[in-house]
Amino acid sequence: MPSWLFGCCRVSLFCALWCLASTFLSLQASVLGERDLPQLSSDELSVLVTGVPDPIHKLDPANPNSHLSKILIPRAPGTENITLVRNYIVSTLKNLNWEVEVDEFTDETPIGKKRFANIIATKDPSASRRLVLSAHYDSKWFPDYPQNQFVGATDSAAPCAFMLDIAETLNPLLEDRIKRFEEGLIEEDDDDDIDDMTLQLVFFDGEEAFHSWTDTDSIYGARHLAQKWARTYRQHTKRRLLSVQETEISAVEHLILLDLLGAPNPLIKSYFADTRWMFDALVRIEQRLGDSGAFEYGEEKSMAPDSWQSWFLSRQNMNLGFGYLGDDHVPFLRQGVSVLHVIADPFPKVWHKLGDDRAALDLPTMRRWSLLLRVFLSEYLHLRPEVSGKGAESPSENLPDATTGVPSI
Ligand SMILES: [Zn+2]
Repeated sequence: MPSWLFGCCRVSLFCALWCLASTFLSLQASVLGERDLPQLSSDELSVLVTGVPDPIHKLDPANPNSHLSKILIPRAPGTENITLVRNYIVSTLKNLNWEVEVDEFTDETPIGKKRFANIIATKDPSASRRLVLSAHYDSKWFPDYPQNQFVGATDSAAPCAFMLDIAETLNPLLEDRIKRFEEGLIEEDDDDDIDDMTLQLVFFDGEEAFHSWTDTDSIYGARHLAQKWARTYRQHTKRRLLSVQETEISAVEHLILLDLLGAPNPLIKSYFADTRWMFDALVRIEQRLGDSGAFEYGEEKSMAPDSWQSWFLSRQNMNLGFGYLGDDHVPFLRQGVSVLHVIADPFPKVWHKLGDDRAALDLPTMRRWSLLLRVFLSEYLHLRPEVSGKGAESPSENLPDATTGVPSI
């Protein structure tokens, strides 16, 4: 996770200018740009909250079979442990019938040459555009015991577990949409560009610096992938003949980067002008879900309809131009990709300490993140949760013990 913030005035000015420039580039790259997301109906929202397996079981570190438990081990780049984690992520996504690429490379680090491997999973490789949801799956390397037992629960094991929950939950909806597209059943009023869009998950390796954060000792995987995608030209997809200048990176509609999430009461800010509308959409979804009681879980009442508090810093209270945090999104931003950076700022108190373990995580908080992302991505991608039928399957073993029904959303 990011080790620095552009704080001083000189760099802030640079950042403000850079933000303007990157916004301009992003507007050029983005086809869809700012738009209103069609809101899911109350019944459709209920399906995503209560009609599919509750995320809690896949996020609970006390459950040895949860996604989080499989990831929550020390996993510095190039170690046997990170290979175990990578194999788990790859097999989970392959089992869901996603196309998975392991993007391996070697780079120089302050402790010598290291092997890295990004994981790129795409639901529909034939789609001409992609929404990328990303996080880093490596944990920070420390040379000595006990620091080398660091597991980076918020940094970023929990975000990786959210992504696997998203892939599982939205998979039937994504497959249904591919089928409707291929059978010509997409309604006439649907947006062509959004229908030819797929969800892509990127798990970055080597985000962490080995020593201190510099341009060359940090975000190894993101720097490699942004460069590679900027140099790779796409020929055509099954559906469209693309222009000869179209690169892999230009097919990225937006990149959403999750980092340092899972601890209670995060504060989330909007950093980029061209994705304010996405930030605002998340705020509106949070409001609908919060007021409906969807965030309440078990004995914990702080997220009940009359007491939950927003995690998102109101844009009215924001000091625009405060710059942005260095993280995996930066190489993509510099290539003109439109970015939504979802990161707790200030960082969790346990940042880069051994205390960033399962005790730093809050189950209702992680559950709330998964619900927010399920709904946001469904609305962005125009997915249609089925109110009854296959989209509403709810295996009893996965049903939560303590959730109540969703009164009205
Ligand atoms: Zn970190």
